[in-house]
Amino acid sequence: IKEKHRNNYNLFDSSISENFRMRLTLETELRKALREGQFELHYQPQKSFSTGKVVGLEALLRWNHPQKGYISPSEFIPLAEKTGLIIEIGDWVLHEACKQNKAWQNQGYDPITVSVNLSAKQFHQRSLVDKVKDILNDTGLSPYYLELEITESMAMSNENYILKTLKDLRDLGVLVSIDDFGTGYSSFKYLSLFPITKLKIDKMFLNNEQQENKAIVKSIIHMSHSLNMKVIAEGVETMEQFAFLSQERCDEMQGFYFSKPLPATQLTKFFTV
Ligand code: C2E
Ligand code: CA
Ligand code: CA
Ligand code: CA
Repeated sequence: IKEKHRNNYNLFDSSISENFRMRLTLETELRKALREGQFELHYQPQKSFSTGKVVGLEALLRWNHPQKGYISPSEFIPLAEKTGLIIEIGDWVLHEACKQNKAWQNQGYDPITVSVNLSAKQFHQRSLVDKVKDILNDTGLSPYYLELEITESMAMSNENYILKTLKDLRDLGVLVSIDDFGTGYSSFKYLSLFPITKLKIDKMFLNNEQQENKAIVKSIIHMSHSLNMKVIAEGVETMEQFAFLSQERCDEMQGFYFSKPLPATQLTKFFTV
């Protein structure tokens, strides 16, 4: 028994170090990816219900690994968050998205918004507002065409800081939306307190199998409008979902039904001039 116990213990022990080694490798590889330009942004169109036009794009990070191919952000963002590397990666994302959006405008396409996902660490860095200002100056993009997506969980701590940061961003002219709305710690207080321009209904609520979801989606749409916010549904995959959201006057929609996220070179077909 003693022998067995020791073996188990060793096994446990070595699996910890294995895990640790894997994390170290991934961290080293993430740094290398940043240095060697292995990150790319893909963009997913957001369609206006009333005009039928693409009015925005969400920038989604992709790691184009030289051996493993495209790696999804859900596989490396958590570690990037933990190690703090998300700050540098996030800076790159913001800069790249603004630069690309300005480039499309320079090519003569009608201006649209680019939405960038912010991680909690990014949002809580004190220099965020100045950084955004610098990037807008640097790329020449007007703040009205940049939207920052934050999540409800970021709004949990340090209310004064959050309120000040959001106000400063809004004073700059940048748009702010709440991503995955309804899945976190939503509070009506935040909705009335924070200068938010748009709610993004999480795709889990588009699941038709649960009848309650329809009532939830309707309520979110109506509430957004009553509070003078726009509302967008994400994860729209079917014609039924599109029809339902149209009937409920959801301002914008995004999802595989319209397009998956695409590399920058493949988006111009969605633009108007
Ligand atoms: P998210 O912000 O909620 O992004 C939406 C996710 O849904 C994306 O996954 C997108 O590809 C996927 N999606 C789009 N349309 C559909 C659809 O019709 N059906 C379904 N089932 N899925 C759809 P992706 O690109 O793998 O990104 C996953 C998450 O990684 C994002 O979730 C976001 O939280 C995070 N992320 C992506 N890019 C960045 C970034 O630049 N910075 C940070 N901090 N996080 C990012
Ligand atoms: Ca998002
Ligand atoms: Ca989302
Ligand atoms: Ca999500």
